[in-house]
Amino acid sequence: MDSGIRDKFRKSGYTLTSQRRAVLEALTESDGHPSAEDVYLIVKRKNPRVALGTVYQALSVLEEIGVIGSKHWNESPTRYDLNLEPHLDIRCGHCGAVSEIPGVGLDDLESRIQENTTYQVKSATLVVEGVCPKCRRNQ
Ligand SMILES: [Zn+2]
Repeated sequence: MDSGIRDKFRKSGYTLTSQRRAVLEALTESDGHPSAEDVYLIVKRKNPRVALGTVYQALSVLEEIGVIGSKHWNESPTRYDLNLEPHLDIRCGHCGAVSEIPGVGLDDLESRIQENTTYQVKSATLVVEGVCPKCRRNQ
């Protein structure tokens, strides 16, 4: 387990319980940006008695203490992400697949927004939608 994750738990006062650990492992195993339901199905393989509510609670704690991030597209469940660096994700409007877009820097997005508003910027999330290669082939 990443020492940064341990630090975040220590500072937050939350305990790294076996359930939270199982949710983190499921996030690592899933290829990219699972929904809570996806995480639940992965955790359930090793831990058949886990409840969906437990997975939701673990995800919410992990997000609160900054171990994972989340993004939300319209009419789609929230997707969770271990990559906390500013990055762009694209979601297929047909099948819901989500993947990262490499090579597009977002590092200065928040500072550029801050320069143009009198609000104090806390976070900026940009979501992109498209059609994935698989769905394009089937069109
Ligand atoms: Zn697709």
